[in-house]
Amino acid sequence: MNILFVEDRTARLSSLIQRIESILGHDCHVFSSISAAQAFLVEPGSDVLAGVVSQRLCANVASPLGQLPTIVISDGLPVKANMLIKAENVLDYVMDYGQHNHFQIISLLRRAQFQGKIKILVVDNEQVVRNLFCNVLKKHGFHMLQAKNGIDALNMLAEHSEIRLVLTEMDMPGMSGEALIHAIREKTNKQELPIIGLADGENDQETLQFLRIGANDVITKPPRLLHEVIVRVMQNLAIAESFQEILELSRKDSLTGLFNRRHFYETAEKLFAQVRRGKINVAVAMIDIDNFKKVNDTLGHAAGDIAILDTGRILKGCLRDTDVVARFGGEEYCIMLAGLESTRDACLVMSRMVARVREHRMRFEGVEFSITVSCGVALHPMDSLEEMIKESDRLLLEAKAKGKDCLVCSDP
Ligand code: GH3
Ligand code: MG
Ligand code: MG
Repeated sequence: MNILFVEDRTARLSSLIQRIESILGHDCHVFSSISAAQAFLVEPGSDVLAGVVSQRLCANVASPLGQLPTIVISDGLPVKANMLIKAENVLDYVMDYGQHNHFQIISLLRRAQFQGKIKILVVDNEQVVRNLFCNVLKKHGFHMLQAKNGIDALNMLAEHSEIRLVLTEMDMPGMSGEALIHAIREKTNKQELPIIGLADGENDQETLQFLRIGANDVITKPPRLLHEVIVRVMQNLAIAESFQEILELSRKDSLTGLFNRRHFYETAEKLFAQVRRGKINVAVAMIDIDNFKKVNDTLGHAAGDIAILDTGRILKGCLRDTDVVARFGGEEYCIMLAGLESTRDACLVMSRMVARVREHRMRFEGVEFSITVSCGVALHPMDSLEEMIKESDRLLLEAKAKGKDCLVCSDP
C-alpha cells in the first residue's frame, strides 16, 4: 500500500521513509502541498493507507486529508488540547520527524491498517458517560462498544475477541468494576488486555484501588481534559502492541518466520495433552535438507539461506493451520501433524512435500539450483511427545542411510 507525505523540506524525511519501507513494506510518496496529495488520492487504484503531513502546510489541522487517516507532524507549532478533540481521521499529533519519534510514527501507521477494526469497550452504568468516551474515541478510528455493568461487559468480551482495551468505572449495580477486573485478570494479563479505570474524581482512594486490582492506568471521571483520554488510550494500546510484537518475535525463527524449537515444544505439548485424552491423532515428522553443506560450500551461505527459507515455505504450503511447523536447527524442521483423519495420511502429505522440494528451482546470483530433503515420520501414538520426536529422528536417519531424498514412516 501507499503512504503519502506532505512536506516541503524533504531532506529530513529520508531516514524515516527508509525505515517505513523496510519495516512495513509500504511505498512512500512525498508531495509539497496538500492539494498535490489530494490529486494523487483521487487517482483510480491509488490504494493509500495513511498520510503524514506537516502541520505548517495544513489548511485544516482537524481533518488534513479528508477521510484519510493522517498523522500530523506539529514541528514546533503548538498542539492545543482542543485540536485533538475536534480532529477527525487524525491518528495523532507527533512533535517532529526526529529519530526518537520514528517508532511512534511506525506504530501509528501499523495501527492505521486496523483503522475501524480495533474495538474498545466502555463500561459505565450511565449512558451519558459512556457516550462521552465513545464519541471522543470514535473520531480517532476506534470501533466503540458499550456495557452498563460487569456482567454485560463479560458477555461483550466473550462475543468480541477483537476488543483491545477496556475502560471501566468502579460502582455499578449488578457487577462492579472490581469484580469485572478480577474476572478479566483471571484469564488475561495486563499486556494482553489493558484496562483503564474511570475513577470518581471526588474519591481519592479509587485511583489507588484500580491500580492495585489490575488496571493499567486511571482517568478521572469526568475527565479533566478529553485530550488526556485519547493520549492515555493510545499509549496503553501502544505498550500492549509492542509487548505482543516482542512475544511474537520470541516465538519465531528470524529467517523463516516458522516457530522456533522452544515454541514448538510449548504448542505441541498442548496438542499432545489432547492425544492423551484420546481426542485427536497426531504424527510427528522430522525433515533435514540433504547435502546442505555442499550448497553452502559451492554457492555460499546466502544461497543456503534461500534454500532454508524456501523449504520452510514448501512445508507450510503442504500443511494445514492446525499443524505445528518449526525450524528445529540449522537445516532441520520438525512438524506435528494434527489435522489428520488417519495418521497414515501423514505419509501421503509428507511424501508430497519431499517431491515438491525436489521439483522446486531456486536462483542465486544467476545460478539455478535445487535441493532434496529426507524425512522420518512417527505415526504411532507414544507415551510422550519427546519419544515421538526421537522416533521421527531415528526414522530420518534411516531415510538418510537409504540414500536420501526419501521418506521413512514407522511400520503399520
Ligand atoms: P546430510 O545430507 O547428511 O544432512 O548432510 P548435510 O551436509 O546437510 O549435513 P549437516 O547437518 O552436517 O550440515 C548442516 C550445515 O548447515 C552445517 C551448517 O554450517 C549449516 N547451517 C546451519 N545453519 C545455517 C543457516 O542458518 N544458514 C546456512 N546457510 N547454513 C546453515
Ligand atoms: Mg542435512
Ligand atoms: Mg542437519
